Amino acid sequence: MSTFTVINPATARPIREIARTAVEDVDAVIARAKHIQRAWAGIAPVARADALRRFARVVEEHVEELAQLEVRNSGHPIESARWEASHVAQVLNFYAGAPERLSGQQIPVSGGLDVTFHEPYGVVGIIVPWNFPMTIASWGFAPALAAGNAVVLKPAELTPLTAIRLGELALEAGLPEGLFSVVTGSGSVVGQRFVSHPDVRKVVFTGSTEVGTDVAAGCARELKPVTLELGGKSANIVFADADLEKAAASAPGAVFDNAGQDCCARSRILVERSVYDRFLELLEPAVRGFTVGDPALETTQMGPLISASHRTTVEGFLEGANVAFRGSAPSSDDAAFGDGFWFAPTVVLADRGDRIAHEEVFGPVVAVLPFDDETDAVRLANDTIYGLAGSIWTENLGRAVRVARGVKSGVLSVNSHSSVRYWTPFGGMKASGLGRELGPDAAEHFTETKNVFFATD
Ligand code: NAP
Ligand code: MG
Repeated sequence: MSTFTVINPATARPIREIARTAVEDVDAVIARAKHIQRAWAGIAPVARADALRRFARVVEEHVEELAQLEVRNSGHPIESARWEASHVAQVLNFYAGAPERLSGQQIPVSGGLDVTFHEPYGVVGIIVPWNFPMTIASWGFAPALAAGNAVVLKPAELTPLTAIRLGELALEAGLPEGLFSVVTGSGSVVGQRFVSHPDVRKVVFTGSTEVGTDVAAGCARELKPVTLELGGKSANIVFADADLEKAAASAPGAVFDNAGQDCCARSRILVERSVYDRFLELLEPAVRGFTVGDPALETTQMGPLISASHRTTVEGFLEGANVAFRGSAPSSDDAAFGDGFWFAPTVVLADRGDRIAHEEVFGPVVAVLPFDDETDAVRLANDTIYGLAGSIWTENLGRAVRVARGVKSGVLSVNSHSSVRYWTPFGGMKASGLGRELGPDAAEHFTETKNVFFATD
């Protein structure tokens, strides 16, 4: 059997060998999922709710174990990893409330009764990236299961460990075998099979815009719906009337969290020209003070990049760039972490035409650009193919509302950088995606409406 080696990105040392599932075996998992799904959809809504609450409880009991796994496999700082593992339990708990609330409608008709049902798709295929392996997976599997679907989940080859463990915990919690299966292997084999297999009736994809576009094309051929969460180049817009100290102090976290490997990273800071110099003065100590190092330490704010090849890609963005200042990172003479994929937080002063002003870096590099006025700020914020997230810093309420309505992004925050609350919708516009995850309606997105007319005459 073919395998691949999972690497600890903080040290470049191997952790474990993981199977590359062959197509025939993927098909067998899908066949089992299809079979068990009928039973799962047929049980009482309260029984599905109870099963998901048990799953949530078991995850809660394993938060520390899951967090430690993510520290080793993904280099996430332990505090972030604990948040991520707890978040999975919360997402499960939230959607455990859905089975009894998936009400259809009763629509007035003459000569009978017309009602709608939210029918599950059947088997849902979920393909996730390496940047937030367990949280992003849960955004798909929790509402999909709640709505009565079976789930096959493909983690990224670089980061499969927490997903594998979640699959085991589902069984420990008493979910029927085959209802939620984690299938390891490459995107081109396992991921593509989810797309092409006729019994996978919906695909949820999170990853790059390039692969997502391909996945959508494949799903179109099979006429299956697809949800896409793709890249971003989100703007952090700072107006002259903002609380500049607060805006500058929070800006590093908004882009360097998870070493910038966050689709919502505020990787462009747009600053009103009249406060541009002052803002940079305030930003510099905040960047230099950002703690990069051992992800196992609670004081660490940023770990390594995910792989050597990704670091090379990120480095490429600095060619010819005007670097204003950088933070620190472990170096090659650090015995414990010298071989890890470290990259110091970097602030680049950019011009509007520069590559760094438009393309997603997915690393700890932020581009700072000045703007002239409100109209210019909105134009500049929208000057990318992406439209995922964004932040607006101003003390002017009217301006906050106008700019929030003007920026074409799916998730915005004013005087804050929040993007993800599991009970509010999340997703992108333009090249950042299709469809929304999380929030009050996510379980319904894993159903299709059936309309039934009963004649009474
Ligand atoms: P990626 O290369 O697109 O991979 C994402 C997933 O798709 C992985 O599991 C990958 O498997 C799989 N895959 C690769 N080729 C495939 C194919 N031909 N068919 C089906 N599946 C395939 O993205 P990535 O490099 O892992 O992640 C970084 C990107 O994800 C960034 O652009 C980032 O912005 C985006 N992202 C978006 C969000 C969001 O919510 N909008 C969240 C996180 C990340 P293998 O890698 O195992 O082969
Ligand atoms: Mg990739």
